[in-house]
Amino acid sequence: MKKKKIGTVWLGGCSGCHMSLLDIDERILEVVKLADIVKCPIVDQKEFPQVDVALVEGSVTSDEHLHELLHVRKQATCLVALGDCAVTANVTGMRNYLKKEEVLNYAYVEAASNDKEGKMPQHPALLKLHEKVVPLQEVVHVDYVIPGCPPSADTIFYVLAELLNDRVPNLEQERKLKYG
Ligand code: SF4
Repeated sequence: MKKKKIGTVWLGGCSGCHMSLLDIDERILEVVKLADIVKCPIVDQKEFPQVDVALVEGSVTSDEHLHELLHVRKQATCLVALGDCAVTANVTGMRNYLKKEEVLNYAYVEAASNDKEGKMPQHPALLKLHEKVVPLQEVVHVDYVIPGCPPSADTIFYVLAELLNDRVPNLEQERKLKYG
């Protein structure tokens, strides 16, 4: 079987889903027998290349995330929403109850941890935040979801192993096997 390519990307999330991916521990050796990890937050590769499987952590919070997600979708044969922020917006989406300006003002001006000089940061490199945070499937087609905050390493490994062996992951079947 030809070796596949995996890419992972971190949008609006806390990196906890990537930490859970690392928790597959020695099973990473089984993954790398079947696929090369050609892009991830610790691989120094600027552009997201063509991949067979893309794991996307986090939700879409900004122009930058939107463009990155659209690019990843074009590059990936199979796109997997990794974790609840990607699937439902979850923690990242909690700011949707407030206006964007209120959130920024609290974070940079009003919060007790700011000094008296607290002010809104202005820099072209800062993310251009959207008014509302949205999950991946509001922007692109998502092939599979791995729920959880963070998802368990076992579930991540199960889905990856199925995809890399050209099988269709079935989380319901997996649940029944584990819990009846
Ligand atoms: S789903 Fe949970 S662990 Fe994953 S990015 Fe969101 S908050 Fe972090």
